[in-house]
Amino acid sequence: MVEYASGTPGDNTPYSDEVDEIQASERREMTYATRELLVDRINRLVAALERLNDGDYGTCVECGERIAPARLRVMPEVATCVRCQDRIERLGRQLEPVGAGVDADDE
Ligand SMILES: [Zn+2]
Repeated sequence: MVEYASGTPGDNTPYSDEVDEIQASERREMTYATRELLVDRINRLVAALERLNDGDYGTCVECGERIAPARLRVMPEVATCVRCQDRIERLGRQLEPVGAGVDADDE
């Protein structure tokens, strides 16, 4: 008589579909909310590419000074330097949403 070791406890741990569903719907809402921002950003990126072709890329469209490389790295589509962006926002004329959470404060 041969005795087999009884099988190891199953791997069929219960999986919560509910949590997965909630996360999926959250993702959907995020996608929807950010879509407009993305379209907006694409438009600015296209404009940035045009400036790149013109040789104006990396130069502030407001004051003509060079935009900090760190700022360009984070937001390649920006058309203004930090100072002008700040001034524009103070005037209430928003050119771009700020929310990248980055302070490009290198001189
Ligand atoms: Zn500027």
